Amino acid sequence: MELQNKSKILVENIKVLYKPGMSAADIDRIALRKAHKKISAAFDSHGENLAVYRKSLDARRRDSIKFVFSVCAQIDARADKREFGDRDIRLCVESDFSVNYGSARLESRPIVVGFGPAGIFCALALAKHGYCPIVYERGENVDKRVASVERFYKNHALNPLSNIQFGAGGAGTFSDGKLMTRINDPLCSYVLSELVSLGAPQDIMSRARPHVGTDILRNVVAEADRCLESLGGEIHYNTKVSVSRGGLYADGVKLPSQTAVLALGHSARDTYAELIDAGFLIEPKPYSAGVRIEHLQSELDAAMLGDFAGDETLGHAEYNLSERVGERGVYSFCMCPGGEVVAAASEEGGVVTNGMSRHARDGKNANAAIAVSVLPSDYGNTPIGAIEFQRSLESAAFAFGGGDYTAPMQTVGDFLNGKYGSEPTVVSPTYMGGRIKSCDLHNILPSFITDMLETGLRSFGKKIYGFDRADIPMTGVETRTSSPVRIMRDRDTLEAVGHSGIYPCGEGAGYAGGIISAAVDGLRAARAIMEKYAPFDA
Ligand SMILES: Cc1cc2nc3c(=O)[nH]c(=O)nc-3n(C[C@H](O)[C@H](O)[C@H](O)COP(=O)(O)OP(=O)(O)OC[C@H]3O[C@@H](n4cnc5c(N)ncnc54)[C@H](O)[C@@H]3O)c2cc1C
Repeated sequence: MELQNKSKILVENIKVLYKPGMSAADIDRIALRKAHKKISAAFDSHGENLAVYRKSLDARRRDSIKFVFSVCAQIDARADKREFGDRDIRLCVESDFSVNYGSARLESRPIVVGFGPAGIFCALALAKHGYCPIVYERGENVDKRVASVERFYKNHALNPLSNIQFGAGGAGTFSDGKLMTRINDPLCSYVLSELVSLGAPQDIMSRARPHVGTDILRNVVAEADRCLESLGGEIHYNTKVSVSRGGLYADGVKLPSQTAVLALGHSARDTYAELIDAGFLIEPKPYSAGVRIEHLQSELDAAMLGDFAGDETLGHAEYNLSERVGERGVYSFCMCPGGEVVAAASEEGGVVTNGMSRHARDGKNANAAIAVSVLPSDYGNTPIGAIEFQRSLESAAFAFGGGDYTAPMQTVGDFLNGKYGSEPTVVSPTYMGGRIKSCDLHNILPSFITDMLETGLRSFGKKIYGFDRADIPMTGVETRTSSPVRIMRDRDTLEAVGHSGIYPCGEGAGYAGGIISAAVDGLRAARAIMEKYAPFDA
């Protein structure tokens, strides 16, 4: 980005060694000073408006914990090249969401099905550009949804339409709100800045491992709702869209589908079945399944941060663990420091776990899924097979738990020694406030999963002290790690193969995994529509 005689640059790889007692502000100050020195050395200019662009913690070596920074700055030099003399300095390319409007005429307002991250960002982008989208969401708005989930926790009466998977904000609302992603798309920083404008904390822009927390995310979703309405968009909650060869229907009324975005999420099994019956090309895809493990956060901090455990500037320890045996992997997934295990069921008669935390991450436990890759060959290589395999694990967990959404639990020691019945002694399982029942998970999960879990636990126990301690509880089952299917779409138009005007996007369509990548895919779908059609008010 070239401003009049000004260039915005990034100075990367600035390391600040952490010493006990240093505040976040102290550390940032040192980083900015170091960046200043680097800029003065590389240019005959001092650099202006220096600011932290990215900040990450490197705690791999407990004796030299350091923060690694990227600092952005403006230099008063005309810079028309991407690289400078110093390989740690480069031009800072910021993204905006620009669109070249199409000219085709829209006969009807675009439809967006689903108000999760993909649906939200798609609808907001369409509304901001004058396309007046109509959103249909099978679940409730945030407040009513929270009440439904609380009722489920209290009375074990699941609302299959509005729960931890379905409703305003989609699966992301009851989450840790971790905003990391593996996709390297310039739109990621646009999504972050939009989240900040909707009320997310400013520091998500610069933290290498940003998170929001469910308490703040709920407000962000409510603000997205208000923002959409104020921009001429419309949301219909408690309205499930059904699909048939005749088109899309809401409450039995046929919807105009000149342009319809399907941002359904990975748990819309009934809609997947309808799409298959309606002739959409849907393929199975690999996903993972396993259990959710819990440790005392303080013990994890001690094991991973040593004397720095409990240090507010460093925050809680986080882990990323994996092991591979042949074509199968076992890995930690969606780790929630200071969080809780949630009851993420969306279908009656199934028990599903996932993780959530508040912004403060002030829960006693840390939890994460330990998941094993499930391959299409494990379930007959069909989309229905992929869904039925998940469902079979969830209903087995429901049955072994006692049939009231109590979840099966087994300690690591019992699991590794083929026993069950031991109670966790130090860590109190958090699923539904401790609604667990001691079971043998080998009776619920197939051996290709339990074998890999055993391999993983033993390996992870060597990497983090106490990870595989005998009394550590594991609650099951974790099945909704990503979408079990992909709705095939054209690579350029993003329309479903054989169904022009229908735009499958986000996690449920099999093109994203996580909040950020789902939001980015929602933006891509919006851009595809806007680059074909002129704005509604044109
Ligand atoms: C408990 C939990 C914690 C998570 N933690 C994180 C995290 O920390 N970080 C992260 O990046 N990801 C996390 N995830 C994953 C993340 O939430 C998803 O990847 C993301 O929400 C996918 O976005 P999406 O918009 O594609 O789908 P979803 O968020 O699943 O939204 C789809 C929406 O479509 C609606 N819908 C479905 N079918 C229909 C229909 N027929 N008619 C109308 N509406 C319909 C659903 O009700 C839902 O609201 C978590 C998920 C869960 C469940």
